[in-house]
Amino acid sequence: MQQPLELPGQQPPGYSKSSPAGSGAGKSSRADRGSGKGSMDCSATSGNPYVELVSCLQAAWLLGKTRPMEYRVAQLEALGHFLDEKNILDALASDMRKPPFEAEFCEILLCKNEVNDTLNKLGTWMKDEHVEKNVVTQLDSAFICKDLYGVVLILTPWNCPVHIVLMSLIGAIAAGNCVIVKPSETTKNTERLVAEALPCYLDNDCFAVVTAGVEETTKLLENKFDYIFFTGSPSVGRIIMTAAAKHLTPVTLELGGKNPCYVSDNCEVQNVARRVAWGRFFNAGQTCVAPDYILCSVEMQEKLMPALREAITEFYGSNPQESPDFARIVGDKQFRRIRTLLSSGRVAIGGQTDEQERYIAPTVLVDVQPSDPVMQEKILGPILPIVTAASVDEAINLINTREQPLIVYVFSSDKKVMNQVLEWTSRGGFCGNDTLMHMTLTSLPFGGIDSSLGKYHSKSTFDTFTHHRSCLHRSMALETTNALCYPPYTQQKLGLVCFASEVKRQGTCTLL
Ligand code: NAD
Repeated sequence: MQQPLELPGQQPPGYSKSSPAGSGAGKSSRADRGSGKGSMDCSATSGNPYVELVSCLQAAWLLGKTRPMEYRVAQLEALGHFLDEKNILDALASDMRKPPFEAEFCEILLCKNEVNDTLNKLGTWMKDEHVEKNVVTQLDSAFICKDLYGVVLILTPWNCPVHIVLMSLIGAIAAGNCVIVKPSETTKNTERLVAEALPCYLDNDCFAVVTAGVEETTKLLENKFDYIFFTGSPSVGRIIMTAAAKHLTPVTLELGGKNPCYVSDNCEVQNVARRVAWGRFFNAGQTCVAPDYILCSVEMQEKLMPALREAITEFYGSNPQESPDFARIVGDKQFRRIRTLLSSGRVAIGGQTDEQERYIAPTVLVDVQPSDPVMQEKILGPILPIVTAASVDEAINLINTREQPLIVYVFSSDKKVMNQVLEWTSRGGFCGNDTLMHMTLTSLPFGGIDSSLGKYHSKSTFDTFTHHRSCLHRSMALETTNALCYPPYTQQKLGLVCFASEVKRQGTCTLL
C-alpha cells in the first residue's frame, strides 16, 4: 500500500494543505483548514519557495497515486461536495456582489454538470483506443493509451473565479494528474475560500492551492511543470508562454477577445434585445463570453434602442443600482478603466456611475466608431457599444479585420445570413440567436484560435490534460516478414515492404 507523503520542512508562502493525507475523499475539520499556510521563505535552501511543494507532488505522481480510476472518481466526487459549500455564494457576493442566481447558474450548476458528465464518461475516456493496422502489423496490437502528464499548474483569472478553477481542475484530476491551482488574487474572498476550503475535500498529497501575487507567481513559474493551463489576459499569456518555453512545457492559454454580435435586419427585435442584454449585463458584463459589441444597420439600431431600454428596465427596474440582480465591478482599478470607456461615442442608455459602490449602470453606446477606445480592448464591464454596418458583408469584413474573437454571435431569422456569418468568420466559437447558452452544453469544446491555444470543457479538458501515447505491441512471431526490413537491402525487399505498409488512396483504380 502506498504511504501518504509528508511535506519535508515547512511549506512555501500561500500554500494550503488541509486534509489529512490519504484518499482525501472526505472533508477534514474546519480547524485543519489552512494549517499549512505559512510565510516561510525556503529560498535559503532551494532558491525557490515552491521547489519542495512541486517535488512532493512529483513524488506522489511517481508513486502512481493518481493512476487508478477509483482514486480519480473519489477525488471528483469530493470536489463535487466542495460545490455544496454555502460560503461560495457569500465569497462571490463580497468580491463583486455577484447575484446569487448568476453564481448558482454559472459557478455552481455548470461545474456540477461538468463533474457529473466527467464521472459518467471517465471509464470510456480512459480506455485505450485501438487503431487501424497495416498488413505487416496484423498480428500486433496498435492503440492510443491515455497517459497522464504528471504535475500540472493551473492559473486562473478573477471574472468567474470558482467556475474557471474547477472547470480546468476537474479535467486535470480526471486525467490522473497532480495539480497546483493558483486562483486570482483580485477576488480576495473567493481566493481565500478556494485556498482554505478546497484542500479539505481533496488529497493534499496530490493537489494544492497556492495563493500568490505576480511576484510569487513568477517564482512558481520558474519550476518545471509537466503542463501549464492558463486563463487570463493575452499580455500575461505571453509571460506564461515564455516561462513555459524555458522548460519546453506544453501549455493551454485561454485568453479571450472581443466578441462581436451581428444583428441582421430580419429578426424578432424584442427577443434579440432581451437575449443580448442578458448576455452583456450578466455579472455586470464581467464574463469573457459576453457579446462585446453589436453590429447592425442604422435601421436596426433604431428598432433595437427602445427594445434594449425595455429589456434593461424589465430585468433591473428603473434604477438598476437598487437591483439585487446586478453585480458590481470587481475592483477600483477595473472600475476606473471601464469608466473611461464611457466617453466613446454617445451614451444612449445608462451611463451612471458610483465609484464608492463600483457601480456602472447597464449602458448602451451609439455613434461608436471602430477606432474608438471602447472598440480597442475587451470591455469586461456593463457597456454595450453599437457599431453600424450597412450589410452582412460589411459586418463580416469588420469582424475579420479586427482582433480575433472568442465567440461570434449572430441574430437572424434568415438561415442564409446565419450560415454566411458562420462560414466567413472562422475564428472562435459560434452561437446563433442567443448569447452565453452554448456554455451550458458539456458537449461543446470551448476556445478560439488567436484568443486561445487549446480547447477545454468536458472530454476536451480530459484530452488536454492527457498525453495520448501511441503504442504498438508487436508479436515476436513472423520474423521472416520482419527480415524484409533488414540489410542487406534489395529492390525486391523494398517492393514487398511498400506493398505491406502502403496506405492506398481510396476510390482510385490501379488497373487503369
Ligand atoms: P490576468 O491575465 O491579469 O491574470 C490571470 C492570472 O495570471 C492570475 O492568477 C494572476 O495572478 C496571474 N498573473 C497576472 N500577472 C502575472 C504575471 N506578470 N506573471 C505571472 N502571473 C501573472 O487576467 P485577469 O485580469 O485576472 O482576468 C481577466 C482576463 O482574463 C481578460 O483578459 C479576459 O478576457 C480573460 N479571460 C479569458 C477567459 C477564457 O476562457 N478565454 C475566461 C475568463 C477571463
